[in-house]
Amino acid sequence: MKILNVVGARPNFMKVAPLHRAFLAQPDIQSKIIHTGQHYDRQLSDIFIRQLDLPQPDYFLNALPGSPAQQMVDIRQKFDAVLCIEQPDWVLVVGDVTSTLACARVAAQRGVWVAHVEAGLRSGDCRMPEEFNRIETDRIADVLFVTEQAGLDNLRNEGIAPEKVFFVGNVLIDSLVRYRQKAAELNTLAWLGVCPQQYVLLTMHRPTNVDTETGLEKLLQLVQAIAQHKPVLFPIHPRTRASLTQFDLMGRLSSTPGVRLLEPQGYLEFLNLMEHAAIVITDSGGVQEETTYLNVPCLTFRNSTERPVTVDLGTNHLVADLDPETALKKILDVLEGRAKTGRIPPLWDGQTASRIAQIMTSLDVKRQSIQPVLT
Ligand code: UDP
Repeated sequence: MKILNVVGARPNFMKVAPLHRAFLAQPDIQSKIIHTGQHYDRQLSDIFIRQLDLPQPDYFLNALPGSPAQQMVDIRQKFDAVLCIEQPDWVLVVGDVTSTLACARVAAQRGVWVAHVEAGLRSGDCRMPEEFNRIETDRIADVLFVTEQAGLDNLRNEGIAPEKVFFVGNVLIDSLVRYRQKAAELNTLAWLGVCPQQYVLLTMHRPTNVDTETGLEKLLQLVQAIAQHKPVLFPIHPRTRASLTQFDLMGRLSSTPGVRLLEPQGYLEFLNLMEHAAIVITDSGGVQEETTYLNVPCLTFRNSTERPVTVDLGTNHLVADLDPETALKKILDVLEGRAKTGRIPPLWDGQTASRIAQIMTSLDVKRQSIQPVLT
């Protein structure tokens, strides 16, 4: 059985690494990695390949920079050529980025079976490009692997056949479990001169938060207020940096006492910083899940989350409309010792990838012959 695993953007590497490893552990599976190049730079790509012990990708598609629509077209065309060469049985896509939907579509058009890992998540917010990618990928997928109960409920409500859906847990947590100790050995805190529980960790990159001047102004106000209580470490995503520069806010942010601006961190460094933060403030999907697993308080600057288990069982709180006052109140609650205690959601146990590998090997896939030109 031949599986092509797609990676394209930062959050994909942590999910594909344990899957690729679990596939290689099965004697009858051939597993290859296709990097679309959707986010390609050292900080958002190379470092994860190295830290997560991934091999160099079998194909690098070098997606042209551009809008999601432009990248979608480019990736589809290039991935189609890979399918013709490789003739796989499966294409496996993870998460909700442009590459996820682009490659799922091409595979489905070519009659190749599509597995979607992290299926069924819905924020209900159609302004998020990721929401559209999730819904469309789930419609196409032949097999859907789900991380939490809400995913099962959403897919059932959307009429997806239940026999295609498997509740398997969370592959992102597989990576966390595997690399937690290695991350602890890096001494990232000492390098940065901070002590455990004595800093706030901030990440922000969703367009709704960072693409407008109003959003960034609110963020700046909040950061300035928090920094009066605890130092703030802020690894800045390239999208956020570009936006701060465009609105001429970089100077104000960097000159705020108590604020440390950092480059985007490697996976291991960031994992270590999350584990020891007094609180993590974010709009990232994966960070909501990782903080829940680590039982670290998390404040998510979004009106809704597609990962409700992190609020219901875990340590996550949502702050709507980027409201600095509400956020500061919640942050002070945590800093003054009134954080809620979370629980680890079912099947987030570090074994998800091997469950997925077993399910995929048990299915009877009919291989299609893929011709370069469609007739
Ligand atoms: N992450 C990282 N370095 C950073 C910030 C985040 O390695 O500076 C990791 C984080 O631990 C998680 C993943 O990147 O595993 C989340 O990626 P991102 O926030 O870009 O995407 P999302 O999860 O929102 O789709």
